[in-house]
Amino acid sequence: MQGSQFKLDLHVDSNKNSFRNSLKNGEFNILFQINVPEIDCNPDTIFNRCDPFIKTVEKIRKLNCGIAVLNGKRHQNPLNVIEFASQLEFSDINKNVFFVSGRNNTEKYIYETVEAALRTGIKNIVPVSGDFLPADEYGNLKNVNFYESVRSLKLINKYFNEMEIFSGTVLNPFKYTPLDLYPQYFKLMKKIKLGANYIFTQTGWDLLKLQELRWYLEKRNFFMPSIAKFYFLNPDYVEDIISGKLPGVRISPDFLSILRKESNVGFTQFMSAQWRKLQLMLTGLKFIGYSGVLIEGLESSSDVNVAQIKIKEAFNEFSSFEDWKNAYSEYLARAEMAPYPYRFYMYRNLFKEAYADNAREKNVKIPDCTAKEKLKYKFSEFLWKGKTGKNGKISLKKLIFRCADCREEKCILQNLFYVCYKKCPKKMVNGPCGDTKADGSCHIMKRNCIFGKIFRLANWRKAINFLEEDIL
Ligand code: SF4
Repeated sequence: MQGSQFKLDLHVDSNKNSFRNSLKNGEFNILFQINVPEIDCNPDTIFNRCDPFIKTVEKIRKLNCGIAVLNGKRHQNPLNVIEFASQLEFSDINKNVFFVSGRNNTEKYIYETVEAALRTGIKNIVPVSGDFLPADEYGNLKNVNFYESVRSLKLINKYFNEMEIFSGTVLNPFKYTPLDLYPQYFKLMKKIKLGANYIFTQTGWDLLKLQELRWYLEKRNFFMPSIAKFYFLNPDYVEDIISGKLPGVRISPDFLSILRKESNVGFTQFMSAQWRKLQLMLTGLKFIGYSGVLIEGLESSSDVNVAQIKIKEAFNEFSSFEDWKNAYSEYLARAEMAPYPYRFYMYRNLFKEAYADNAREKNVKIPDCTAKEKLKYKFSEFLWKGKTGKNGKISLKKLIFRCADCREEKCILQNLFYVCYKKCPKKMVNGPCGDTKADGSCHIMKRNCIFGKIFRLANWRKAINFLEEDIL
């Protein structure tokens, strides 16, 4: 990586990976988020804040704590995560996790970043595709590219040894229509097959959705660890969510009215309600089989100190799932966390029990394709036979499929049920990004996400299994 100044004086034991070992041993991990700064930040300000924060986390006893480093502030030009991490002072670098974004990055950049991670002793990498930012007007999107997380995982799998890089992935389970939810899981399956060892969820407060993920994995015999992302709310962040500044993160009307009531009684009461929420969420996560939590929104060492006290109290407070469920029901469970009218959950009896033994899946009716969609598919199939070579018959494709001539080695139109991925503003190929709106529509364009349509076509062709195969 050009211009990087990697400090190599970290305390690295090449065989040791504390994060990996703790997941293997079934310990509950508590990761505190540090945000990657903007490229032109003042380094002194950043390191003067981050180093005491890291030291405070490292001093915590009786809880298994670490740091997660990511572009949480959604900067337009963030520093390279490994370059940033190499300048922080960690006593055991592999207690921590580092998220590598594909936003505006290429295959070469991802390769070089992972290589730099190895040189720096970093093993725990979570590739993500990256975010569309408010400053990215649709017209300018041509200038922004997203290197998809599926492709990054494939690259890591191909070029790096599993013992060297312990890679994870991210899923947004907070989706409330079948057409929106299942494609997220199809994509997750691709990532698991490509070597993702653990799952982080995106931010959300709906524990039923988090349990749905555990049950889905268990029902399919994937017992891989999952870590939920929890945002410690403050009034500003609530406003950011409501105004749509954080795509993919949503607060249901019921939950919002609870937050409004909490904030009406004053800042101190609002904050104490948030600490209680953190306590209930974290203990609930433990009971339903999560391996940890990533906490965003705690800004200072003193916040971390309060958090550790609150978490220890909560872990001692509840001795069983039933005890916890009663307390949670009194506090939050009566609130509808789904963004009504969208409220689809895969299982009927979520929350009745902690584990998936008696999980009952709902019968799902996937909306049928229209007669026009079916006709177009058949026509495409007829015309397309044998024309999948490099740039095959571009003029014909352009005419019939409004092909954008992506110049991929092998045309993948057929694999996407004749829906060109160039119609997705982020050019996702292997499945949806996590940011669809509550009704499943695209968060950038005023139209449905292309992966809902691909799912309907695959369902009609009885080829749903195919949606779990990576495409590019
Ligand atoms: S079409 Fe779907 S995957 Fe593409 S940007 Fe929109 S919501 Fe994300």
